[in-house]
Amino acid sequence: MASGNSFFEDMRTKSEVIDPPQSEDMMDIVETGNDSAQNIAKSHVPVTSSVHDLLECPVCLNAMYPPIHQCSNGHTLCSSCKPRVHNRCPTCRHELGNIRCLALEKVAASLDLPCKYQTYGCIGIYPYYSKLKHESQCIYRPYNCPYAGSECDIVGDIPSLVAHLRDDHKVDMHNGSTFNHRYVKSNPQEVENATWMLTVFSCFGQYFCLHFEAFQLGSRNGGAPVYIAFLRFMGDDNEAKNYGYSLEVGGQGRKMVWQGIPRSIRDSHRKVRDSFDGLIIQRNMALSFSGGDRKELKLRVTGRIWKEQ
Ligand SMILES: [Zn+2]
Ligand SMILES: [Zn+2]
Ligand SMILES: [Zn+2]
Ligand SMILES: [Zn+2]
Repeated sequence: MASGNSFFEDMRTKSEVIDPPQSEDMMDIVETGNDSAQNIAKSHVPVTSSVHDLLECPVCLNAMYPPIHQCSNGHTLCSSCKPRVHNRCPTCRHELGNIRCLALEKVAASLDLPCKYQTYGCIGIYPYYSKLKHESQCIYRPYNCPYAGSECDIVGDIPSLVAHLRDDHKVDMHNGSTFNHRYVKSNPQEVENATWMLTVFSCFGQYFCLHFEAFQLGSRNGGAPVYIAFLRFMGDDNEAKNYGYSLEVGGQGRKMVWQGIPRSIRDSHRKVRDSFDGLIIQRNMALSFSGGDRKELKLRVTGRIWKEQ
């Protein structure tokens, strides 16, 4: 089969496209080559390929979990890809039907595999079917970039994310457990659903993210604009609980104080914000704290982070 027959090569290339076939033409071309499809089926999986490779969905390349589907030629497909291929086997284009590949499901059940975060330090070995659950909670799994101002796909351990925040997002870095920050915005009418500022604090050998942002409370059009400040811990939730923090904002003889527990950056920035787990300042109050003629927002936020005993 490794003769380099260009016709078969073309067929293979076509048969391995990621998207389900869009045009009738394409399906017709493939369906006329019934015999060649059979040949492809035989040659598709080399005997040397490991069981692990067999368990990789040919469409999304993720590991497959029950129910694992197969076409009448034996090509396998994961259950999340199945509804997306319009009942056509993505490998040979034959009708997919509703055949489960019980043999492969049973083989999978007999496997023990290392956690996929091995390179991050996890040494766990797990049965195939509980590996996924472990990985969703593995303490070595990488963190998402905590920067919320734009979509960012970077993941990594804490030291690499700290470097990423500093170098790529130009985030301000501060040493110490107390802070005194000024947030100034010349046009307070302009309240966007966006992160305003992120500052990283380093103290107690840990890193904390101070978020300050404006957002619309309630319905998008009628809601009152508010400001929120909160702290996130760059680490897991069980460790975040060992710390506390306070934030203060005020002016013109008035003061608001918030005391809280930093949230882990495992919780998304949006999740923390939407649970109002921070110092929330109504805009009218923020403007009166700012003094002046209410044309400019000028907030001074002071804060402190401590370690609980
Ligand atoms: Zn898939
Ligand atoms: Zn097939
Ligand atoms: Zn793990
Ligand atoms: Zn980032």
